Amino acid sequence: MYIDKANFFNKNVILRCDYNVPLINLVIQSTRRIDQSIPTINTILSHKPNRLVIISHLGRPKGKDPLLSLKPVLSYLSNKINKEIVLTSLEDFDKVKDNKIIMLENIRYYKEETKQLSTTNEFRKTLSSLGNVFVNDAFGCCHRAHSSIVGINTKEKYLGHIIKNELKYLNCFNTVKGKKSLILGGSKVSDKIQLIKNLIPKVDNILIGGGMVFAFFKYKNINIGKSLFNEESLSYIPEIYKLAEKYNTKIILPVDFNCNDNFSNEGNIINCDIKNGIPDNYMGLDIGKHSIRLFNTVLYSSKCVVWNGPLGVTEFSNFSIGSRNVMKFLSILDATTIIGGGDTACCCEQFDLQDEMTHVSTGGGASLEVLEGKKLPGISIIE
Ligand code: AMP
Repeated sequence: MYIDKANFFNKNVILRCDYNVPLINLVIQSTRRIDQSIPTINTILSHKPNRLVIISHLGRPKGKDPLLSLKPVLSYLSNKINKEIVLTSLEDFDKVKDNKIIMLENIRYYKEETKQLSTTNEFRKTLSSLGNVFVNDAFGCCHRAHSSIVGINTKEKYLGHIIKNELKYLNCFNTVKGKKSLILGGSKVSDKIQLIKNLIPKVDNILIGGGMVFAFFKYKNINIGKSLFNEESLSYIPEIYKLAEKYNTKIILPVDFNCNDNFSNEGNIINCDIKNGIPDNYMGLDIGKHSIRLFNTVLYSSKCVVWNGPLGVTEFSNFSIGSRNVMKFLSILDATTIIGGGDTACCCEQFDLQDEMTHVSTGGGASLEVLEGKKLPGISIIE
């Protein structure tokens, strides 16, 4: 049930947003999550509700940590929508209830938000009593059965614009016509195995980089030197190849790596052709230039690309070249291009390419679970 179908006139609306923004000394480092919530806020306000109560968490406070107050979020949002917003604790809600827009302080200041305690039911009832319509637009939190996600029980419930878009784009392999490619990176196959199994039947190509790729080379008896590797990941490779064969899905691996003799940005950096393997005292930290060309050639004919996980150690500038170049190529590709949250979304911002993609997911764990084909508790409860 999406927000487009709702009528908020004269109602008391509770809106759950995901304002878990990166903060340093109370200064917001990325306002993306706040900016993206504005269409939903504007839709609600355009209906002239009696009042709007915004709920969010921020970080993982131990108690009422003032460094994790929503004050900086409130001032940014208030400026952006050019309207007064009043911040309150749950305890003081009655004192401010006649205001038009109210923001509850960091909902994780209350342990009942995340924990099942003897007081949790009462807490959920109190939250539910703040309005008669609930809108959830906190996509990044929907995989968690927390009180403000699954415990607000109003007569009417809707999903906001962010969630609608996330579901549309993260499920684009079901709708877009033409060749479909999945780019996968990150550290372990074991973390992504559900996603791989869910998407192999839906895509034409899976391009693999990151630390996870070394399990594939180990399987092929190719020397990987000191590169990242874990045994559990290796155990999944045969079933991945079997499934890929069944669905005629191509698994595309890098052909060369930029390697270092230690896990850092500096050192003896060499390019290794994977045919000859990676020397014993080196580790592959990024895909090399020939792999970038290979990946871009495959992507060239794709009409829909979803990317989850960096292709190298993008925390180090010398090893972010692969991810940067492939992402740059995606940014000019005539295709639906989806960046699936978490580290990959951070890379996209770091490379300043977020506006060039069709969609950059706001959720890390939540987007992974959608790509795995799971139903998220925060979405099911409203659907
Ligand atoms: P994940 O949390 O599984 O999405 O993995 C992201 C992490 O994988 C990032 O911190 C990257 O630094 C790391 N990573 C990517 N490529 C490599 C690699 N070749 N060797 C070691 N770590 C890598």
